[in-house]
Amino acid sequence: MKVLLADEYGFCFGVERAVEMVEDALEEGDTVRTLGPLIHNEQEMQRLGNYGVSTISEPVQIRRGETAVIRAHGVTPEVQKELEEKASKVVDATCPFVTRVQKLAARAAEQDRHVIVVGNPDHPEMIGVKGYAPEHAFVIKDETEVAGLPWLRHPLVVSQTTIKAKTFFDTAEAIKTKTDDEVQIVNTICSATRDRQDAARALAGEVDAFYIIGGRHSSNSRKLLAVCQEQCPKSFLIETEEEINAQDLVGAETVGVTAGASTPDWLIKKIVSHIEEIGERWKNELPLA
Ligand code: SF4
Repeated sequence: MKVLLADEYGFCFGVERAVEMVEDALEEGDTVRTLGPLIHNEQEMQRLGNYGVSTISEPVQIRRGETAVIRAHGVTPEVQKELEEKASKVVDATCPFVTRVQKLAARAAEQDRHVIVVGNPDHPEMIGVKGYAPEHAFVIKDETEVAGLPWLRHPLVVSQTTIKAKTFFDTAEAIKTKTDDEVQIVNTICSATRDRQDAARALAGEVDAFYIIGGRHSSNSRKLLAVCQEQCPKSFLIETEEEINAQDLVGAETVGVTAGASTPDWLIKKIVSHIEEIGERWKNELPLA
């Protein structure tokens, strides 16, 4: 049985960078507390927890002597300031792609322009970005919400980093009906999600079974599952190797593997080895008739 990994899988640049920054702080002997879970992966959070990393939900929970970590989604300037006042050290692991959106919003607000951010207003990344232009920014989900916007001054349109390109461009087009001024459209979508889906799609037609490693509640992992299922009915979303049912692999010659953007490499390697062991068992115990 051959195990094939998709061309793009696992940690995206921003998540990998955030984990490395936490590891650097641990190496310096810091007591590390992250504002919100650093990543949406229980196994990786447990691993970091074993080194003493804990999570707080509010800046007020941080104490002198502790290191506060801002995760890849970023936070509002007010939250950052509060952390800087309370913690002994702040590690800002905001993904540079998110920082770019924050800076664009802040600059447009300084010029007294409206900022429309296409994304989910409840998502932490969007709450953070809005904080950079509180009086000027509107976060809307899609074009259906454009009608509810006021008349706009020299609007800048940017996007949450993980939304679909079609949603962004359709909404940006609709925004042109809400102003007489020129609309500046800056596509700030990050390609990490799409790259993983494209790579999974390319592999799904070539394998007999497909394992997507990622959190059951992670939307990018569930989307990867849907993409794989289109071409490979035996596609499974798993969090650990214990969830693999060896019977599903009877007769499988090639097995595809991919992983969501929050799945660490060590977990992927462990699961790949487990699948290969199952393959060996089938070969030795159940020779093909
Ligand atoms: S998905 Fe993109 S924007 Fe978000 S953390 Fe990863 S690299 Fe950064």
